[in-house]
Order: sequence, then structure tokens, then C-alpha cells
Amino acid sequence: MKPILPGSTIGILGSGQLGRMLALEARRMGYKVQTFSPEKNSPTGQIADLEYIADYNNAEAAKEFAHAVDVVTLEFENIAFDVATAIETVKPIRPRPSVLHTAQHRLREKTFLSTNLFPVTPYRRITTEADLEKALSELQTPCVLKTAGFGYDGKGQAKVNSLDEALVAWRKLESDEAILEVFVNFDREISVVAARGVDGQFTPFTPVENSHRHHILDVTIAPARISESLAVKAIEITHNVMNALDCVGVLCVEFFVTHDGNLIINELAPRPHNSGHWTIDGCVTNQFEQQLRAVCGLPLGSAEMTSPCCAMVNLLGDLWQHSEPDWVQILSDPAAKLHLYGKHEARIGRKMGHITITAETMEALAVSITRIKNILGIGS
Ligand code: AMP
Repeated sequence: MKPILPGSTIGILGSGQLGRMLALEARRMGYKVQTFSPEKNSPTGQIADLEYIADYNNAEAAKEFAHAVDVVTLEFENIAFDVATAIETVKPIRPRPSVLHTAQHRLREKTFLSTNLFPVTPYRRITTEADLEKALSELQTPCVLKTAGFGYDGKGQAKVNSLDEALVAWRKLESDEAILEVFVNFDREISVVAARGVDGQFTPFTPVENSHRHHILDVTIAPARISESLAVKAIEITHNVMNALDCVGVLCVEFFVTHDGNLIINELAPRPHNSGHWTIDGCVTNQFEQQLRAVCGLPLGSAEMTSPCCAMVNLLGDLWQHSEPDWVQILSDPAAKLHLYGKHEARIGRKMGHITITAETMEALAVSITRIKNILGIGS
């Protein structure tokens, strides 16, 4: 396959912050960018050469979009499979539609992982109340009930301890298919973001550690405070997952680390991930440039860290409810970098931007994180 060279046009499905940061990298490297989504003046559209406005389910529009670009990639995985396959008849789409098909549905994803012997928490498919009763009698509680499709950031999920609680949660989901999985009493959550090229070249970033607030990523710390052998194992699993999916592009594997030091996969995202944003300021090549290189058939860049420690703090819309955060004070730390996504409305829980900080030691990093969180008024 011939590489898609600078000067060519990258088509991005989706128009949020991930597409924006990809578009910034693409423009820096001399590519043109078009974005496809129903939204006008979107975070990606503000950076792109052209914002193609259409519904995600409009396969004809998606084909027309594909004709105008050289390669199609995505910034969110919930593109309908038939739309992705329609695009594939016109231009290469990376990652390929089958990867999206697997990763956009929790049940298909868990089935793929367990049939390929990757470690996952025990789970059952739920389509009726009787299924729920049977599953609860077989699995140990507490469990987590999740919608089978189109879930993210803890949306459409509930922790349940009993059949009564599970029935309430099931009725509230208003879904005809769900997954019940055993709650993992984890020690910490980590993730591995990695890139895989058209030729199978594999380049992982160092595993990172993630903490959440209200089910939404709050802070990422790089590198994760885990043993070298666990880090190697997490990277090996990520490599095997990408190979098994034949995934070209960037993929994130989110893991639970159990108290006895085992890894359990929580979920996959076949695209750049929030827990990889720190790479923009913390690595030689960031996750967005890696995605661009991978989907264009270029050699992957170095994923080496440029400082010993790095952290990312998410900025959610909650912070804007009374006034704008105090950027001057935050940026008075010369190691702090501000990224805002150009979103017009600061809704509660909405990802508006992030801050990255680099440091020489984990102790210094912890001090910087606490300082930033204090300024933002979100505690530690
Ligand atoms: P998800 O949307 O599936 O990524 O879940 C969001 C967050 O909910 C995860 O990062 C965990 O903190 C928590 N969570 C989800 N599933 C489980 C589980 N089976 N056991 C424990 N925590 C979970």
C-alpha cells in the first residue's frame, strides 16, 4: 500500500475534542482535514478545512464525504456498521468497520475478549427479567448492569447488590439488551494506549493510571505506579488485542488491577483516548500524531516520554457554573499546559478541556496536581 502523504485529505468521522486534536496534528504535518458529523462549528470543525454536516446514519452522505478525502478515520466508535462499510466501498477506513462493530457494543466486545481468552470479569447477557434472575443466581454480587450498546463514561450503568436492585436498574435502562458483570474490587485502574500501523508495527505508550469522579476520568498519571512485570503484561495484552482485531490506528485498553496483582480488561476504545491526552506534552510523538501516521501508512513515531512524570487533569463543564476557572493562577506553574476544546456550552459533566503537567518525580507531580485541583476547587 502506498502511504498517504502530507497534502492529502484526512476524513474524520465525529467532530469532538479527539477529532480536534487529531486535526491540529494533521494540519501541523501539512494534511488537509474534513470532518463528518451533524454538528456545526464543532470542536473539530473549527480546525478542519471543511465541516460536512450530516446525520451519522446517512450512508449516502457518508459515501459522498468519503469521495472528497483520501482516507477515513474516526474519533468516536459509535458509527453504524452499515455506514462504515458503505464508506469502505469508496475509501480506506481505518480502523476497519469490523473493529468498530466489536468495540461499539459491550456484549460483542466482551464476547470477542473472552473467546480469545483475554481476561474479563464474569458476565451474562440480559434480555429479560428472567435472564437477570438466573444471572444473579450464578454470579457473585455486587454486579454492574450496563446497556449492551452505545455506553460511555459510566452512562447507562448501575451497581446492584440484589435482584430487587437489579430489576429497578433494568427497568430504568429502558433497553432490550444489557450485560450483567461482576463488580471488580480493584486496587487501581490503568490503561494502555497504543498505535498499530498498516504493516503491523506496534508502538505502545507507557501504561498510565486513571482515577475517576462520578464515573468520568478525572486524572491520569504517567507512568502508572505498577511493577515493571505488570506493565509488560498490560502492553503484551494490548498488542495481542490489536492483532486479534487487526486494528490499524490507535486503541486504548482500560484495565482493572486487582488486589492480587492481576489484570482484567474493562473495555476497549479503538481511537485516541482521554487517558492518552498527556502524550501531547509528555511524549516525543503524541497519540493523535500516531493515529495520523498509522492510518496514513507512515512509520510510527517514538512513544518515549520527554520527562520522567506527566499528569493530565480533566476540565469538566462543572467548573464553569459560577465563573471561568482562574487560568492565570493555573498557568503560573510554568510546567502547566492548558488545552481547551472550543465548546460553546459548559454543561455539567461535559469535557471542556484538560491541563497537563510534567515533573521530575512522582512526589513533585502529586504536589502540582493538588495545587491545580485546589485552584479549580475540586479537591484532591
Ligand atoms: P465504563 O463506562 O464501563 O468504562 O465504566 C466507567 C467506570 O465505572 C470504570 O472506569 C470503573 O471505574 C467503573 N466500573 C465499570 N465496570 C465496573 C466493574 N465491573 N467493576 C468495578 N467498577 C466498574
